[in-house]
Amino acid sequence: MIEFQEALDIVMNSAFTMGTETVSFIDSSGRILAEDIKSDMDLPPFNKSTVDGFACRKTDLGGEMEIVETIPAGKYPKRPVFGNQCSRIMTGAAVPDGADMVFMVEDSDILPSGNVRCTAPFTKENISLMGEDIKNGAIVLRKGKIIQPQDIAVMAAVGCTSVVVSKMPEIAIISSGDELVEPFEKPDICQIRNINSYGLLAQVKRSGAIGKYYGIACDHEEDTFSLLDLAISASDIVLISGGVSMGDFDFIPAVMERAGVEILFPGVNVQPGKPTTFGTHKKALVFGLPGNPVSSFIQFELMVRPLIYKMMGYNWNPLTINLPVKETFTRRSSGRMALLPVKISEEGYVYPVEYHGSAHISALTVADGIISVPPGKKTIEKGEIVSVRQF
Ligand code: AMP
Ligand code: MG
Repeated sequence: MIEFQEALDIVMNSAFTMGTETVSFIDSSGRILAEDIKSDMDLPPFNKSTVDGFACRKTDLGGEMEIVETIPAGKYPKRPVFGNQCSRIMTGAAVPDGADMVFMVEDSDILPSGNVRCTAPFTKENISLMGEDIKNGAIVLRKGKIIQPQDIAVMAAVGCTSVVVSKMPEIAIISSGDELVEPFEKPDICQIRNINSYGLLAQVKRSGAIGKYYGIACDHEEDTFSLLDLAISASDIVLISGGVSMGDFDFIPAVMERAGVEILFPGVNVQPGKPTTFGTHKKALVFGLPGNPVSSFIQFELMVRPLIYKMMGYNWNPLTINLPVKETFTRRSSGRMALLPVKISEEGYVYPVEYHGSAHISALTVADGIISVPPGKKTIEKGEIVSVRQF
């Protein structure tokens, strides 16, 4: 059985590139940017007052100044400021020629003559210089990033109202097993609710792809074949969970081959997720994910999510945080790479959550992330630094 890293390399090397499409910037949140975005102007576009106050010359600060104009935001100043003069100015308005500072209205005293004086012993310039934030023609957003709300704000600033993004891969989701009923049904004795399809649909959505649910394939080879065949013909990636282990009804790998999938690995030396199977078809990439919900969830995060991102041109580096473990942790066997759900305490220590194994999906809802323990390593000593990966 191959090691996890080798499996991941195989998956990532099988990625094909999605095309691009143009969307309104308003609808681009979560999409992968497929072009560099440049600014069509300087920002600020003029020397701008950052406060409500009086624009004057620094050298005149000590004395009285005549107020020559009121400059609202959005109106260009009509008059320059000469010696012992100032203009009343609003936040966001253009600083008039001649002025090199603005003192705040809070620091001003209007005299009976109608002149004004600065009362503060010290004041900043309170001017934001033309082009200091963004230069005309500068690249403000680079190709290959995931578009976040702050990026959309930048697009608004530079007038980029339509944007080229990668097309979203379509991901088919199938669950298999005669024991499964849908969440809105009450399971009979010996039945359980279908967890994986819904967890996977949400994971697909979070990864910026389009999930399509194909339903439950019963443990019947013909039915499973037809569903898989249909899913492959209409999708970029197919995720079928369950039926990949060693039981009498675990025939998914055989059905995958029958559907024309070339299996590149039939299992991975990882826990949870050992039965994870992957293969390629000329129409789609196909994962046989383990039936146990924690395994399916974690293997999606570790293999499918980076694949989806790569296909859209996003080089994902999941955020990890290095912290010490609170207590010594020992595992029973050390043959496989292990992934453990953990929590981070307020003091910044890592400790395992209560976790009964790969069916215990609620353990993931209280975890802050997972840590990976390499094969051969049995014990993590108290105080040892581990890398927590968020999901
Ligand atoms: P299998 O790989 O089909 O033998 O499934 C392994 C375990 O995962 C069994 O206990 C199944 O009942 C369970 N399982 C399989 N598919 C699902 C699913 N979609 N939702 C919840 N549990 C599942
Ligand atoms: Mg099964």
